[in-house]
Amino acid sequence: MDLKEYRDKRDFSKTPEPRPRKPGAGRPNLVYVIQEHDASRLHYDLRLERSGVLQSWAIPKLPVMEQGVKRLAIQTEDHPLGYEDFEGVIPKPEYGAGTVKIWDRGVYTPVETAPDRLVVDIDGRRLKGRFALIRIKAREGTDKAWLFFKIKERERDEDKPPGTKKP
Ligand code: MN
Repeated sequence: MDLKEYRDKRDFSKTPEPRPRKPGAGRPNLVYVIQEHDASRLHYDLRLERSGVLQSWAIPKLPVMEQGVKRLAIQTEDHPLGYEDFEGVIPKPEYGAGTVKIWDRGVYTPVETAPDRLVVDIDGRRLKGRFALIRIKAREGTDKAWLFFKIKERERDEDKPPGTKKP
Protein backbone atom coordinates (compact mmCIF):
# COMPACT_ATOMS: atom_id res chain seq x y z
CA MET A 1 0.00 0.00 0.00
CA ASP A 2 1.32 3.39 -0.87
CA LEU A 3 -0.01 6.80 -1.78
CA LYS A 4 1.48 7.22 -5.25
CA GLU A 5 -1.87 6.87 -7.06
CA TYR A 6 -3.53 9.28 -4.61
CA ARG A 7 -0.74 11.82 -5.13
CA ASP A 8 -0.60 11.37 -8.93
CA LYS A 9 -4.32 12.06 -9.37
CA ARG A 10 -4.29 15.34 -7.52
CA ASP A 11 -2.82 18.82 -7.78
CA PHE A 12 -2.50 19.96 -4.16
CA SER A 13 -2.19 23.58 -5.23
CA LYS A 14 -5.76 23.31 -6.57
CA THR A 15 -7.68 20.84 -4.43
CA PRO A 16 -8.38 21.51 -0.75
CA GLU A 17 -7.91 17.78 0.04
CA PRO A 18 -5.06 16.86 2.40
CA ARG A 19 -1.54 16.22 1.18
CA PRO A 20 -0.15 12.88 2.31
CA ARG A 21 1.61 13.09 5.65
CA LYS A 22 3.51 10.70 7.85
CA PRO A 23 1.27 8.43 9.91
CA GLY A 24 1.02 9.44 13.56
CA ALA A 25 2.87 7.15 15.91
CA GLY A 26 1.09 5.18 18.58
CA ARG A 27 -2.50 5.68 17.54
CA PRO A 28 -4.66 3.90 20.11
CA ASN A 29 -7.51 3.15 17.68
CA LEU A 30 -7.81 2.50 13.99
CA VAL A 31 -9.64 5.14 11.98
CA TYR A 32 -13.02 4.37 10.41
CA VAL A 33 -14.87 6.92 8.31
CA ILE A 34 -17.53 7.06 5.62
CA GLN A 35 -17.61 10.27 3.57
CA GLU A 36 -20.63 11.21 1.48
CA HIS A 37 -19.22 12.32 -1.85
CA ASP A 38 -21.56 14.20 -4.13
CA ALA A 39 -19.45 13.89 -7.28
CA SER A 40 -20.62 13.04 -10.81
CA ARG A 41 -22.55 10.30 -8.97
CA LEU A 42 -23.41 10.44 -5.28
CA HIS A 43 -21.58 7.69 -3.40
CA TYR A 44 -20.23 6.83 0.02
CA ASP A 45 -16.46 6.46 0.54
CA LEU A 46 -15.62 3.90 3.20
CA ARG A 47 -12.09 4.23 4.59
CA LEU A 48 -10.34 1.98 7.10
CA GLU A 49 -6.89 2.63 8.52
CA ARG A 50 -4.50 -0.16 7.59
CA SER A 51 -0.69 -0.22 7.48
CA GLY A 52 -0.43 3.55 7.87
CA VAL A 53 -2.90 4.52 5.14
CA LEU A 54 -6.67 4.61 4.69
CA GLN A 55 -7.77 1.64 2.59
CA SER A 56 -10.73 2.95 0.57
CA TRP A 57 -13.88 1.77 -1.19
CA ALA A 58 -16.59 3.71 -3.03
CA ILE A 59 -20.08 2.45 -2.18
CA PRO A 60 -22.73 3.58 -4.70
CA LYS A 61 -25.70 2.94 -2.36
CA LEU A 62 -26.27 4.06 1.22
CA PRO A 63 -24.71 1.56 3.69
CA VAL A 64 -27.21 0.04 6.11
CA MET A 65 -27.26 -1.64 9.54
CA GLU A 66 -29.66 -4.36 8.38
CA GLN A 67 -27.94 -7.73 8.60
CA GLY A 68 -27.02 -9.33 5.27
CA VAL A 69 -28.06 -6.40 3.05
CA LYS A 70 -25.08 -6.31 0.72
CA ARG A 71 -23.64 -3.19 -0.81
CA LEU A 72 -21.25 -3.16 -3.74
CA ALA A 73 -17.97 -1.49 -2.69
CA ILE A 74 -15.45 -0.62 -5.38
CA GLN A 75 -11.92 -0.42 -4.01
CA THR A 76 -10.25 2.88 -4.82
CA GLU A 77 -6.75 4.21 -4.21
CA ASP A 78 -5.41 4.30 -0.66
CA HIS A 79 -5.85 7.70 0.94
CA PRO A 80 -3.51 9.33 3.50
CA LEU A 81 -4.25 9.37 7.21
CA GLY A 82 -5.85 12.70 7.95
CA TYR A 83 -8.29 12.39 5.04
CA GLU A 84 -10.88 11.22 7.57
CA ASP A 85 -11.17 14.85 8.70
CA PHE A 86 -11.69 16.21 5.20
CA GLU A 87 -14.92 17.96 4.31
CA GLY A 88 -15.17 20.48 1.53
CA VAL A 89 -15.59 21.17 -2.13
CA ILE A 90 -13.17 19.72 -4.68
CA PRO A 91 -13.26 22.19 -7.58
CA LYS A 92 -13.93 21.26 -11.20
CA PRO A 93 -12.19 19.85 -13.19
CA GLU A 94 -10.09 18.24 -10.44
CA TYR A 95 -10.29 14.52 -9.73
CA GLY A 96 -13.44 13.73 -7.73
CA ALA A 97 -14.86 17.26 -8.17
CA GLY A 98 -17.85 17.73 -5.86
CA THR A 99 -18.77 18.04 -2.20
CA VAL A 100 -17.37 15.76 0.52
CA LYS A 101 -19.09 15.49 3.90
CA ILE A 102 -18.40 13.13 6.79
CA TRP A 103 -21.37 10.74 6.94
CA ASP A 104 -20.07 8.55 9.74
CA ARG A 105 -16.87 8.19 11.69
CA GLY A 106 -15.34 6.44 14.62
CA VAL A 107 -12.90 3.60 15.19
CA TYR A 108 -12.77 -0.05 14.26
CA THR A 109 -11.12 -3.28 15.33
CA PRO A 110 -9.98 -5.86 12.76
CA VAL A 111 -11.33 -9.37 13.36
CA GLU A 112 -10.12 -11.05 10.14
CA THR A 113 -7.69 -9.59 7.60
CA ALA A 114 -7.33 -12.06 4.73
CA PRO A 115 -6.48 -10.56 1.29
CA ASP A 116 -10.03 -11.22 0.01
CA ARG A 117 -11.97 -11.04 3.26
CA LEU A 118 -11.97 -8.41 5.96
CA VAL A 119 -14.12 -8.66 9.05
CA VAL A 120 -14.21 -5.57 11.24
CA ASP A 121 -15.97 -4.42 14.36
CA ILE A 122 -17.07 -0.87 13.62
CA ASP A 123 -17.78 1.65 16.33
CA GLY A 124 -19.21 4.65 14.52
CA ARG A 125 -22.12 6.97 15.19
CA ARG A 126 -24.32 5.39 12.51
CA LEU A 127 -22.75 2.00 11.86
CA LYS A 128 -21.99 -0.23 14.83
CA GLY A 129 -21.14 -3.88 15.08
CA ARG A 130 -19.52 -6.52 12.90
CA PHE A 131 -19.21 -5.92 9.16
CA ALA A 132 -17.62 -7.97 6.39
CA LEU A 133 -15.88 -6.90 3.20
CA ILE A 134 -15.64 -9.78 0.74
CA ARG A 135 -13.84 -9.46 -2.58
CA ILE A 136 -15.91 -10.64 -5.53
CA LYS A 137 -13.97 -13.06 -7.72
CA ALA A 138 -12.35 -11.37 -10.72
CA ARG A 139 -14.87 -10.72 -13.46
CA GLU A 140 -14.11 -8.72 -16.57
CA GLY A 141 -10.51 -8.35 -15.47
CA THR A 142 -11.16 -6.37 -12.29
CA ASP A 143 -10.40 -7.35 -8.74
CA LYS A 144 -11.69 -4.08 -7.31
CA ALA A 145 -15.24 -5.20 -6.58
CA TRP A 146 -16.14 -6.12 -2.99
CA LEU A 147 -19.32 -6.57 -1.02
CA PHE A 148 -19.84 -4.70 2.25
CA PHE A 149 -22.47 -5.87 4.72
CA LYS A 150 -23.34 -6.36 8.36
CA ILE A 151 -22.94 -9.85 9.75
CA LYS A 152 -23.96 -11.60 12.91
CA GLU A 153 -21.51 -11.57 15.77
CA ARG A 154 -21.10 -15.29 16.12
CA GLU A 155 -21.44 -16.48 19.67
CA ARG A 156 -18.67 -18.85 20.45
CA ASP A 157 -18.68 -20.97 23.58
CA GLU A 158 -14.95 -20.50 24.06
CA ASP A 159 -15.46 -16.72 24.34
CA LYS A 160 -17.91 -17.04 27.19
CA PRO A 161 -16.80 -16.91 30.81
CA PRO A 162 -16.33 -20.29 32.57
CA GLY A 163 -19.54 -21.83 33.86
CA THR A 164 -21.72 -20.59 31.01
CA LYS A 165 -20.69 -23.20 28.44
CA LYS A 166 -23.47 -25.25 26.94
CA PRO A 167 -23.33 -28.96 27.86
MN1 MN B 1 -15.32 9.44 -3.74
